[in-house]
Amino acid sequence: MNTVDYIYRFDPRNPSTKPPPVDAEAARQSLEDGNRMFARWMASCRSPITDAGEQARYIVQCNGLEVGMARKQGGIPRQAPFAVVVGCSDARVPTEMIFGQGFNDLFVIRVAGNVLGDVCLGSVDFAVEALSESVRTVVVLGHSGCGAVSGAVDAYLQPTKFWSRSSSTALRSILQKIFVSVRESANAIHEVWGPDARKSPHFREAVLETAVCLNAAQAAFALRQEIERAGRWEIEVLYGVYNLSNHQVSMPHNPKAPASDENVRLAHAPTNPREFQVLACQMAEILRDGAGPSPGSITEADAPTGDGRGTESPGSTPGGE
Ligand SMILES: [Zn+2]
Repeated sequence: MNTVDYIYRFDPRNPSTKPPPVDAEAARQSLEDGNRMFARWMASCRSPITDAGEQARYIVQCNGLEVGMARKQGGIPRQAPFAVVVGCSDARVPTEMIFGQGFNDLFVIRVAGNVLGDVCLGSVDFAVEALSESVRTVVVLGHSGCGAVSGAVDAYLQPTKFWSRSSSTALRSILQKIFVSVRESANAIHEVWGPDARKSPHFREAVLETAVCLNAAQAAFALRQEIERAGRWEIEVLYGVYNLSNHQVSMPHNPKAPASDENVRLAHAPTNPREFQVLACQMAEILRDGAGPSPGSITEADAPTGDGRGTESPGSTPGGE
């Protein structure tokens, strides 16, 4: 195992070292490139040490202007993110880090299960309206082994858990927003795996990982409609899933894929409801025969159960190791 430095560099002699992306395509590229760098960093931690004292260094370039460098005393930087990101609150998914971004790059909204509610949508509306000069893209980011989605899957498979008195109304309101994705996922897995799919020891995990993708797609679909209603056609709405094991953002997503630069991909938001079914079947194929996570993997520990317990266990590391 290696020690690796992850550096945020503000160089006052070069205050505009990182020009903002000029359009939505450049914004997508910047996010994907940043994630490739982050995943390489994580992979390099696990590499054999090649030379005593040698350390890998990964540098996130930041504009000094973003923290007030090279400004007259008292001047504060103007908020100018190029992307709005709606992600899960999960502590293992630090948005700026996994996209290799720094200060003033991302307007981040985090809520368990990356579900959309009025307050969350209001935050997106604010960003798209008030920060319209800089925002180029809106991204929904799910992640593998999501505890909120796990809770919805377990409630779907064992409804009694959902009605448990110890499950709070507020928690249920999150799970309810995920149920459609769970149902669509279970349907697709039955269709692709056959009528005995539910007997498979991999069924729950496959429903979970498929629902993580659909849940992100569903939020992206809704946000796309919101952005179009606002007449902001130049803003692209994208979505992806962060893999806790290989640290890459991709779509569709294979929980067991080894890290590879080609995996990293943010998809465009669905434009037609039929795309959800296509994506669900695609995931069911990827996860066929337990190609997805094995029972008892990372998803078990952090699933919020019907009694509202269970998030990240103290001391666990990314990838559930
Ligand atoms: Zn989550």
